[in-house]
This record gives sequence, C-alpha cells and structure tokens, in this order.
Amino acid sequence: MSWCDIGVNLNDKRLFFVPVFERALAADVNHIIITGTSLEKSQQAILLAEQYPNHLWATAGVHPHDASQFTPQTIDDLRTLSKSTRVVAIGECGLDFNRNFSTPEQQCFAFEQQLKLACELGLPVFLHERDAFEVQIEYLTKYRNDLHGGVVHCFTGDIKQMERYLDLGLYIGITGWVCDLKRGQALRGAIKSLPLERILLETDSPYLRPKGLANNRKVDNGNNEPAYLPYIAQEVASLMATDIEVLQLASQVNTQALFNISSSHINRAK
Ligand SMILES: [Zn+2]
Repeated sequence: MSWCDIGVNLNDKRLFFVPVFERALAADVNHIIITGTSLEKSQQAILLAEQYPNHLWATAGVHPHDASQFTPQTIDDLRTLSKSTRVVAIGECGLDFNRNFSTPEQQCFAFEQQLKLACELGLPVFLHERDAFEVQIEYLTKYRNDLHGGVVHCFTGDIKQMERYLDLGLYIGITGWVCDLKRGQALRGAIKSLPLERILLETDSPYLRPKGLANNRKVDNGNNEPAYLPYIAQEVASLMATDIEVLQLASQVNTQALFNISSSHINRAK
C-alpha cells in the first residue's frame, strides 16, 4: 500500500524535481497531486503530471494572492486546462484576508468564478482559507448543492471550524502543522474528533517542514518534501488513536473517492 500526498507545490523552484520525486517513491509516497496556484503554475503542474501518469495529478486554479490577475478570460483558460485528464480539482482557490495581496473584492470574484467552474465541470474544489472563515463558508454554502465535493487544504483551525466544514460535506487536509506543539494546538485537539472517512494527508511542500523532523539540510536544503508525509501520518495516527495502516488505507480511499482516481490506477503504480 502507498501514501497519497494531495498537496505539493512540486513546480516550486526550491524543489529539484527528480531527486524529490525519487525520495517520495522510496518513502512509498506514490501518489502526488501537484497544486496549481495560477494559470502558469497550473499549466506546469499538468505538463509534469502528464510525464508520470501513474504517480502525478494536478489541480488547476488561481490562489487568492493572485486574484488581482483574474479576468473573465481566466475562467476560459482554466476551463481549457481542466480538459486534461490529469486535472482532478479546481483550485487552489479561496479567500485570504490575512495578507490581502489582492483586495477582498478581487478575491471574492475569483473564488466565486472558480466555484461556478467546479460545479459546471463536476470537479471537486481545492480550498485555501485564511482569516476569512465566515465569508468563505457563505460562498461554500451558496454552492453546496452543485459542488462535487472539496478539500479544505492545510486546515489549521479549531474543532468548531472543522465541524462547519464537515457539515458542508468537505474533506479536511492535514499537513505537518499538526506536528507543531505550539501553533498546532487547536488543530491537534480538533483532529481527535475528525472522522477517518474525511481525512486527507498533504505536505504542502516545500512549505511547512514538520517540526521535530531531524535536520537533513544536506539532502533537502531545509525544505519540506513529499517523502516526509509518513512522518506527518505517524503524528496524525497517534492523535487519532488509530493504527497507521488504518489511517493509510482511509486516506487512500478518501483520495480516490474525492478526486475520482480509480483504485486500479493506484494499485498499478505500486
Ligand atoms: Zn494554501
């Protein structure tokens, strides 16, 4: 059985693709969904995924930080990109009122357009949210009946927020944030109540290198990489008081179900 990392910025210039990919495979992280955060990054993600169809998939979307670049033409371009069989979700999309690199109005426009596209194409959404929880929930509620599911990528909130997302039928993406005993405290508490049938695992590489991981700077340059997913999973399993094999199976089944990746595909790759 293998691991699925549902959120990797594998086209980030900090990650050297070949060695990072080889270390992922050596760690049994056989299935990776590359995050598309702009038109250009989505295109790159798709091209990379096309080269390794047994292992790599991609999302296509525009991150809230880039929402100021979003025009009516962007949605047509995303629609075209999403015709690739490698694209399994629309996103990374959502709202980030923390840094407001784009104005809230621009972010809301880009987010709603992408929600509509996901509904139209029957694809799930790959969601980002920071300091915009209530507004994000409003949009998700508005489209909930037409959405084909989604994942709250890199969830770092508390149990109340988690329950609101679960009520909307969404999956919860857990990163190495959970290994941070200080910043991750609310999340560590919430995870104890997260049903196994709603968990997805991700590294969000090269960001969020898990705390407590041994220094390996000569190999990874201090970056996070998909090979560290089992380390995160170990922490999650212990917080959920479940066996790691049970968590592995659950996250694999959930990945297949949400992103419509067939099990024959996953088994074939192993
Ligand atoms: Zn994000």
